[in-house]
Amino acid sequence: MTNLDGTSWNEGREEIQDAARQLARERYAPKAELWDRERTRFPVEERRYLGSLGLLGITHDAAYGGSGRPVIDALVVVEELAKECRPAAFQVFETNTGPAQVVNQLGTEEQRKRFLPPIISGETTMAVAISEPDAGSAATDMTTRAKLAGGRYTVNGTKRWISNGSEADSYLVYARISDAPGAKGIGAVIVEADRPGVSFGSPERLMGFRGIPSADVIFDDVEVPEENLLVGAGGFRQLFTAFSIERLGNATMSLAIGQAALDRSLRYAQDRSQFGKPLIEFQNIQLTLADMMMQVEGARQLLLRAAHHAGTGLPVPLEVSLAKCTANEMAKRVSDLAMQLHGGNGYTEEYGIERLHRDAHGWAVAGGTPTMQRIRIVSEMLGRSFNQRG
Ligand SMILES: Cc1cc2nc3c(=O)[nH]c(=O)nc-3n(C[C@H](O)[C@H](O)[C@H](O)COP(=O)(O)OP(=O)(O)OC[C@H]3O[C@@H](n4cnc5c(N)ncnc54)[C@H](O)[C@@H]3O)c2cc1C
Repeated sequence: MTNLDGTSWNEGREEIQDAARQLARERYAPKAELWDRERTRFPVEERRYLGSLGLLGITHDAAYGGSGRPVIDALVVVEELAKECRPAAFQVFETNTGPAQVVNQLGTEEQRKRFLPPIISGETTMAVAISEPDAGSAATDMTTRAKLAGGRYTVNGTKRWISNGSEADSYLVYARISDAPGAKGIGAVIVEADRPGVSFGSPERLMGFRGIPSADVIFDDVEVPEENLLVGAGGFRQLFTAFSIERLGNATMSLAIGQAALDRSLRYAQDRSQFGKPLIEFQNIQLTLADMMMQVEGARQLLLRAAHHAGTGLPVPLEVSLAKCTANEMAKRVSDLAMQLHGGNGYTEEYGIERLHRDAHGWAVAGGTPTMQRIRIVSEMLGRSFNQRG
């Protein structure tokens, strides 16, 4: 990995973090507000630039152009970028913890060689397509189908809320591969965006997540070769275990939002005076800041534990759900407290606090809602599942 000044990033975690912080502040902070306001898609040239720095391959093997580091190293970069500009952080998140990581974990050698190098260089990008209009939390209700005949899969169905939908070059599509009911019939197939029959809905106008396009992805008799099958029917558990790495990335986005809200609030409380003294001198402000820090640090420790145990492999599902749920809820609350602490300025676009709050809500829903994480937490604690349908 290369630093801004051309020196190597292949050093310790602290050096990586410092360099990412510098990159975030110098290159992305000045653009983040405008991109958000104008809903500008994160530019492809910027994605390639992140690739040229090695940031899109932190967790991937050197054989595909990556640097084979543990997931925690990617998360520190995601956090630093996300404090200033979530669309920039999203690129590092998507390649290191998102669908490309699922391909890395579960794909064949041929699939890794075919898909990973251009993703790691920033030339192309891959999105994940699980949710459907009638299958969100109830993902196993999905109806998108990939049917095998004559050495080809024919894919039909509509996916909803797909981050980077219409922007990505390929989609990791969770689909019914067999007629087996529920989770048993589900697997995943990679569909390139330029295959005949792939189309996109209108761009969603989301409350936050601006700069990261979102759209329906529609598959109408789309044919892909048999070699594009990533996981066959019956591999749902395997897929969701690999997907739990993405939830570490998601929790990191929330952590960054909470940390940024806290940092800005600490500054503001010292700069702004009322009743003839800085806000920080009021005890209620001190208590608010302490509460914010307790929540941020609590989420950080849960995330660190989950990431350390994952190493270069898979995390423990209970630890991931604890980290994601805590970080998601924390980011919503802490950014809300930051708005309150900033008074009228918190309600303007200029101070960036409302942007943090809008994004906090998006990251909580993405990757499975906090409610569903809570259900998973109890399932994991008791070693049993709860039937949501009965
Ligand atoms: C910003 C953003 C980005 C996203 N990116 C992607 C993406 O890239 N790829 C992708 O596939 N999907 C993506 N999603 C979709 C996301 O995973 C779903 O929105 C999410 O899983 C919730 O599904 P839903 O919206 O259908 O809500 P629903 O499932 O309809 O849930 C509505 C509410 O009911 C609650 N609820 C549902 N079931 C239960 C239950 N059994 N018990 C208690 N409460 C319940 C939920 O917690 C929620 O509060 C994204 C969503 C957002 C907002």
